[in-house]
Amino acid sequence: MNQEQKIIEGKAIAKEIENELITAGSDLFKQSKLKPKISVVVLGQEPASQFYVRMIEKTCRKVFFDFDKYQLTEDIKQNELISLIKKLNNDINTHGIIVQTPLPPQIDEIKIRECLHPDKDVDCFNPVNMGKLIMGNPTFLPCTPNAVFEILKRENIKINGKNVVIIGRSSVVGKPLALIFLLKKPDANATVTVCHSRTENLSFYTKSADVIVVAAGRARLIKSDMISDNAVIIDVGTNDIDGKLVGDVDFDEVSKIARRITPVPGGVGPVTNMLLMKNTLQAARIQLSKSV
Ligand code: NAD
Repeated sequence: MNQEQKIIEGKAIAKEIENELITAGSDLFKQSKLKPKISVVVLGQEPASQFYVRMIEKTCRKVFFDFDKYQLTEDIKQNELISLIKKLNNDINTHGIIVQTPLPPQIDEIKIRECLHPDKDVDCFNPVNMGKLIMGNPTFLPCTPNAVFEILKRENIKINGKNVVIIGRSSVVGKPLALIFLLKKPDANATVTVCHSRTENLSFYTKSADVIVVAAGRARLIKSDMISDNAVIIDVGTNDIDGKLVGDVDFDEVSKIARRITPVPGGVGPVTNMLLMKNTLQAARIQLSKSV
């Protein structure tokens, strides 16, 4: 395999999912006159949050879904935010709700997670949906971890029985990803090790891994001497280094050794956004089935 073939093009995978969603969305519309809609709640003007919300809007447009943004001030009171979420929970035209994080200190994130209706919780933010994932019976898969899983599936990279190392144990990426990889399904069934900032001798784990997923938020943490030459590397990290977006992997060096590798940008990110749309379509179907 030459250097170019080694690189996993997240953008191409996202395009594939986009085409599938356009067809599925059009079928749903023909059948029920229903158009999936995502409502995003954002507090304050933090540039990274605003950028992410613009990306969601752009992705919605690509698949002809509706989009609404609720821009709140950063000093909003918790009960006002909860009232808005309850209103969206009851809004028959909203199928998916995203509350953009990080939240300001006066807001208790756990309370917000609990208040989001599980049927509209398209990023698996509510404990009911996370609990269902732990039980092995998920309704929605959280978008970023699912993007990693989807990339591996679509690239025919088998993890069944393989030694998979995840670097990062956050509740957004590392931990739910471990749960997805552990699902009792032919395309999962991995043997999973989760490493984190307190792991001693990280290389000991990475060197023996068939697949390494890095979600640490540490630029160029993974170097070429930390991996085996047959490893597949999925880089979830996004770091701004002097205005340039880089991942958690030293791409130039590691790509010479790895079997397959995702770039940053253009790897996990585009697939994540498209899977949010897939979950929103699923949410619309769930709500339709409950309304008839
Ligand atoms: P986080 O800060 O909540 O968690 C980082 C994790 O990495 C922690 O568990 C920590 O223990 C571990 N870690 C940190 N330094 C380490 C080290 N030196 N060695 C081993 N482990 C270490 O971050 P997060 O929300 O999980 O996000 C992780 C990265 O993924 C960030 O760069 C974030 O921007 C990116 N991200 C990308 C997408 C996407 O769609 N591409 C989505 C979400 C997050």
